[in-house]
Amino acid sequence: MAQRNLINEFYSLVEVDDYDGHYAKDIKDNSYFGMPLESIVAAEKRLRSAGQRGIAYFSMEYGLATSCYNKLSSQLPLNPKNSLPENAVFSNFRVADYFFVLHPDNIIDMPIYSGGLGVLAGDTVKTMADYKLPAAGIGILWNSGYFRQKFWFKYGQAPEKMRWDPYTYPGLIPLKNRIKISLKPEDVYLRLWKYYVYSHKHDAVVPLVLLDSNVESNSQRAKDLTDQLYRSDNVFLKLLQRVMLGFGGISALSELGYHIDTYHLNEGHAVFAFVAKARGLANDELEKLKKQFVYTCHTPVEAGHDKFSFDDLNKVLKKEDTDIIEKFGKEHSGLANLTLLSMNISSAINAVSHNHQKVMHIQFPKYKDRIQYVTNGVHPYTWVSQKFSELFEKFPETFPDFKNNPMILSRAVELKNNPDFRAQLWQAHQSNKAELCNFLDKWRLDKDAFTICWARRIAAYKRPSLILHDISRLARIAREVGPLQIILAGKAHPNDNLGFTYVNETLDKVDKLNEDYSKFKVIVLENYDISLGKLLTSCVDVWLNNPLPPFEASGTSGMKAILNGVLQMTTVDGWVAEVTDKKMGAFFGYRNSEGSVGNESDLHMNDDSEELYRALETMVSLYYKTNQAGKVNNSSEWIDMMIECICTAARFNTYRMLDQYKKEIWHIS
Ligand SMILES: *Cc1c(COP(=O)(O)O)cnc(C)c1O
Repeated sequence: MAQRNLINEFYSLVEVDDYDGHYAKDIKDNSYFGMPLESIVAAEKRLRSAGQRGIAYFSMEYGLATSCYNKLSSQLPLNPKNSLPENAVFSNFRVADYFFVLHPDNIIDMPIYSGGLGVLAGDTVKTMADYKLPAAGIGILWNSGYFRQKFWFKYGQAPEKMRWDPYTYPGLIPLKNRIKISLKPEDVYLRLWKYYVYSHKHDAVVPLVLLDSNVESNSQRAKDLTDQLYRSDNVFLKLLQRVMLGFGGISALSELGYHIDTYHLNEGHAVFAFVAKARGLANDELEKLKKQFVYTCHTPVEAGHDKFSFDDLNKVLKKEDTDIIEKFGKEHSGLANLTLLSMNISSAINAVSHNHQKVMHIQFPKYKDRIQYVTNGVHPYTWVSQKFSELFEKFPETFPDFKNNPMILSRAVELKNNPDFRAQLWQAHQSNKAELCNFLDKWRLDKDAFTICWARRIAAYKRPSLILHDISRLARIAREVGPLQIILAGKAHPNDNLGFTYVNETLDKVDKLNEDYSKFKVIVLENYDISLGKLLTSCVDVWLNNPLPPFEASGTSGMKAILNGVLQMTTVDGWVAEVTDKKMGAFFGYRNSEGSVGNESDLHMNDDSEELYRALETMVSLYYKTNQAGKVNNSSEWIDMMIECICTAARFNTYRMLDQYKKEIWHIS
C-alpha cells in the first residue's frame, strides 16, 4: 500500500513520457532502476517547496562516471548502442595493434561530457546529493555525445559521432514537459529529460535536468543544436548552444516548479540564464537578481573566453535580450564578452585554485577584490579504487569513518611506520596494476616495470608530447636506468588544428621507435574517456602532468591518482602549486614569475623536457630499488611518498570543496 502511494506520488511529480509502458519495468514498487524511489520523491517535493534555499547548478557538460559509480540497473538487456565501443591501440608493438582491439564489456558513460569541466560538474552534483542539498543540475542531452576518437595511421585522429541511445540508457527518462525558446527567426522547442544522481548511501538524489532540441516540431537546424557538445565550426551553432543552456535552463526550472535561490554558472557558457531572468526588470530589481547569481571561471586560456559580435547576437536574439548583454557584457572592442558579462552579473566570482586566482587577478585587475578561489576536488567514492577502499577499511582504528568522511585520510601519516600497512598498501597497488596489465594483456605489460601515464584532453598548453620530445634520451633511460612503460591517451577538439598535430606527431614518433620492446614500451590508447580515466589514474605507478604554468586552472586527474597512492611527476601549476611542500614524487619545469602570466605559445619544450628526463631518472631508479623483480623493499621512500599522496587526497576532494562553496560562495549553512 505504502509502495503504491510512493509510485503514484512519483508519477504525480515526474511526468515520464512513457509511450508504451517502457519505463514501468524499471520504475516500480520502491525501485528506480534498482535504487530507492523514495529518495526521488523526497527530493522532488523539497525542490518545489518555498523556503528551501534551492541551488541550480548550470554546466554545458556532465561526466557522471555512470559506468563505474552508482551504476543503475535495468530489467531490459543492455542496448549494444550503449555499450563501450571497441578501441584500437597504437604502440611500438605494432603486431599486437594489428591483431587486437580493446573491448571492455561495460555500459558507456553517459556521453554528455568532454573532459575536466564535465567530470568536475559530475563530481559536484554527486557530492551535493551526498550532502542532501536541495539542488538541481542543468545540462544538455548531447544526442551524438562529444565525439569518438579514431586513430588513422599517418593521419592522426578522425572524429566520429558517438552513437548512443538515450531512450534505453538506465536511469535516464524523457519527460512529457516541453519548453519553448523564443528566438529569431524561429522558436526552438526543447524536450526535458531527467537523470537522478544518487548519493553515496542512496538516501538522497539531485535531479539532473537535461535539455534536448531533437524534437519533431523543430527544424533540422534547431534539432542539431543539441547534437554534439562544443561544436564551434559555425558561430551561430556555438552561440545557440549557450543560449539553449541559459534560456532553456531557466524555462525548465519554472516548468518543473523548482524554487531556486542561487544560480551557479560554470563558465560564461551559462550566462544567458541571467539574461532570461533579467527581462523586464527595473534597475533596483536587477541589483537584487545579481545577488542570486554566482560564477565560477575554469580556465585562464584565451580560447576559453567566449566573445560574440552584436551583429551576430542581433540575428538570433530579441532586442530586450541583447540590451541586457550590452548593458553588462560589452567590452572595449565592442564585442559581447561572456566572461565579463558573467563577472558583472554575479555576486560571487571564483577561480578554481589559488594559482588560478592569482592569474585572474592579473587578467581582470578591475575585479581583483571580488575574485575568490575554491580549489577543485574529486568525488572520493567515484575515484577511489575498490582495492584502496578495502585497504582503508582494513585499518578502522585510523580511518574509522572513511565511508562518510574522506577527510579522515589525512591520518594515513600515522601509519607511516606500520610495516603491515605499508605491505598492504603496496599489495593493493600491485593488484590495481595487475588489472591494467590484464586489460592490456596482448601488449605484454609487466607488473613489475615502471609505468607512467599521461592522459588528458589534448591542448597545446598541456604539452602532450613533452615526454616524447627527445626519444633517444628516453630510450637511454630505459636501457641504462630501467625498463619504461609509457601510456598516453587524449582527444583533441575536432576544430583544434594544433591539437590534431599533436596526435599525429605522437603516432608518428611511436611508429618510428626502434627499441627493444621488452625494455621500452609506448602505448597510445584511442578514445580517452572516463572509464579509461578511472583505470589509468588508479593503476599506474606515476601520473605525469606537464602543463605550461600558469595555464592549468586546476587539473583534477592528479587528485584521482593520489587517492590511489599513485605518485606525481608534475610541473607546478593549478592545484599542484598548493602542495609543493609535499613529497609525492617530483616537481619539475618552468615556473612563471609572480605577477605575470607569460606567453601561452612559448612552450619551453627544450628546457622542460630536459628537466622531465632528469626527474624521470630519479624516479625510475628509486622505483627499481623499491620493486626488485617483484620483491618489495618495504622501507622504501617510494612507499613513504605513496602515503603522503593519500594524506594529501584528504584535502583535494569535493567534500572539502563543497564545504567551501557552501560557506564562501552560496552562503548556506
Ligand atoms: C578527470 C578527467 C579529466 C580532467 O583531468 P585533468 O587533470 O584536468 O586533465 C579529463 N578527462 C577525463 C576522462 C577525466 O576522467
